[in-house]
Amino acid sequence: MKTYKRILVTSALPYANGPIHLGHLAGAYLPADIFVRYQRMKKREVVYICGSDEHGVPITIAAEKQKKSPQDIVDYFHFRNKTAFQRFGISFDYYGRTSSTMHHETSRAFFRQLESTGVFRKKTEKQLFDQKAGMFLPDRYVCGVCPVCQNDSAYGDQCEKCGSSLSATDLQHPKSVLTGETPVLRETTHWYLPLGDWQEKLQKWFDEKKHWKTNVVGQVKSWLQAGLNDRAVTRDLSWGVPVPLEEASGKVLYVWFDAPIGYISATKEWAAEIGKPDLWQKYWQDADTRLIHFIGKDNIVFHCIMFPAMLMAHGGYVLPDNVPANEFLNLEGEKLSTSRNYAVWLEDYLQRFAPDPLRYYLAVNAPETKDADFTWKEYQQRNNGELADILGNLINRTLTFTAKYFNNQVPPRSDLDPMDQEMIQLLNQAPGQIGDLIDKVEIRKATAAVIDVARAANKYFNDQEPWRTIRSDSKKCGTTLHICLQTLRALAILMEPILPFSAQKLYQILGYTDTIQTEKWDDAGDCLLPAGRKLGRAEILFRKIEDQEIESEITRLKRAGNAQTIDQKAEEPKINQIPIEEFAKIELRVAQVVSAEKVEQADKLLKLLVKVGDQERQIVAGIARHYSPQDLVGKQVVVVANLQPATIRGIESNGMLLAAQDESGKLSIVTLEQPLENGARVR
Ligand SMILES: [Zn+2]
Repeated sequence: MKTYKRILVTSALPYANGPIHLGHLAGAYLPADIFVRYQRMKKREVVYICGSDEHGVPITIAAEKQKKSPQDIVDYFHFRNKTAFQRFGISFDYYGRTSSTMHHETSRAFFRQLESTGVFRKKTEKQLFDQKAGMFLPDRYVCGVCPVCQNDSAYGDQCEKCGSSLSATDLQHPKSVLTGETPVLRETTHWYLPLGDWQEKLQKWFDEKKHWKTNVVGQVKSWLQAGLNDRAVTRDLSWGVPVPLEEASGKVLYVWFDAPIGYISATKEWAAEIGKPDLWQKYWQDADTRLIHFIGKDNIVFHCIMFPAMLMAHGGYVLPDNVPANEFLNLEGEKLSTSRNYAVWLEDYLQRFAPDPLRYYLAVNAPETKDADFTWKEYQQRNNGELADILGNLINRTLTFTAKYFNNQVPPRSDLDPMDQEMIQLLNQAPGQIGDLIDKVEIRKATAAVIDVARAANKYFNDQEPWRTIRSDSKKCGTTLHICLQTLRALAILMEPILPFSAQKLYQILGYTDTIQTEKWDDAGDCLLPAGRKLGRAEILFRKIEDQEIESEITRLKRAGNAQTIDQKAEEPKINQIPIEEFAKIELRVAQVVSAEKVEQADKLLKLLVKVGDQERQIVAGIARHYSPQDLVGKQVVVVANLQPATIRGIESNGMLLAAQDESGKLSIVTLEQPLENGARVR
């Protein structure tokens, strides 16, 4: 296999129109995160990119249903999903969004390049138009009877029952989703990507992918065999990236044209954020990059046919080395359904359980080659029987024994018997074996192999009978515990990609103060825990989950599934509204900064003298990490003028400076768009 200098990993961009559920995690996010965490500990150059897909008809339909603007919807779910992923330990290097300026510019430039080199075919055709709503009905704006399987609720872009990809005009008995009206046909012009022009090149590229998963190969083969058609890349919609041509005003790029470009624009934003704005090019345009797209099976055609064709048509970009798409995860034997609210939502799960047991179960039961089933009972069995009884038991008995008989210190190692040697050899080989499996994205096997190390160590512990040798041969007993403790260190590293939270805790119990990510994967089996090391206090890393907890989850699920409708309240942005009178109580005024200085021994604070009208006041502001004093002098800012005085670090503060801060921690003070008189009221 080719050796690469760097790895670029992407996970499918989730639509910012709803929260994340287990099906998403098992498909595109957890496997990618495990893969990336492993590559980081191999000390390889790797970047992990994702973000919100904020365009497309699902967003505008959600907005219309909730009587909100599309922007409100995507703002709300972007931050909500970003936070949920974080809490679950999904370690993106960058989580972008396709409504960003960078993304709009990048996709428009991409389109322009293809347009100027004559790649597109322009066609004027009749399409479905809703006269009552006064708009065309692309994609999911129309539903009707599938011409393939006769399913009567197929959408204009796809039939979810038989999986056929459709055009809106293919549907029999079409109905507008907006008004329920039967649409009429009306002429409109669109730009098409003639995929057939790239068929030969795609076939050649695909034929080299001997390492792809069979489920992916099967789908791509059947697409190529059927022959590739022209695919429209523009839409008559108002929400999206405007087509960068004057003659196409009122049209936007098709969401499946701009969304994959989102991987590129998010990489650009990541590179800019780390202060190396050109670095994105290395990842996207240098042949030594290994590009891997993690997705669910419903996105295979876009990542294995359409996006590669776009990249070929543009030229200068690397093509994916692998697209390890997963099959679907079912729930208690039934298909997950967001419209019926039949799902386990990540945020909801995290309210009652820790992330690691779910990461474990979804990894060991990943839908890698066929659909898998999530059941609460099996979740409990896997947690109690494997995490708690095998891994947790090894950790617990080793630490308890060491505390009791060896003063909680790593005992020295003396002569080795064959069982000791066998255990050490097993540790030496584990990183290579488990690592190879992760590198091949065989996450199920890799996860089982980690537990097998703990299982072998439990057997070793039993066979060596330290509770007996502590009395008859304390040196031998010390050797046994020494090797068990080395196993715990090895396991901490080997389980990090799958169980990052527990791995870090175990690592700290073993007396390390750094984060576990500083360790090298290849050193995991090398017995580097020093004899004499004082250990921390043992704690239960994997608690047992009670029957009662599982029963209440099953009841909760049945109730939600039977409700038949989405609980709209749960979906709606929760903005705490106040009457205008409340707002009027806050006196916001324009002020000018007269002087600014750092506050000694408070590295976050600046002491400002500001002029509000004729009055001068002193304000202490926590912005010293973002602004130096000279940046501020002379600037017009906005202050809360009627705030009760406060004493901060012994300095009186009379008012508050307004500043905005985003999730990444970037901060900007609020300034005026044009100069005004000091003291002017802000409302
Ligand atoms: Zn169908």
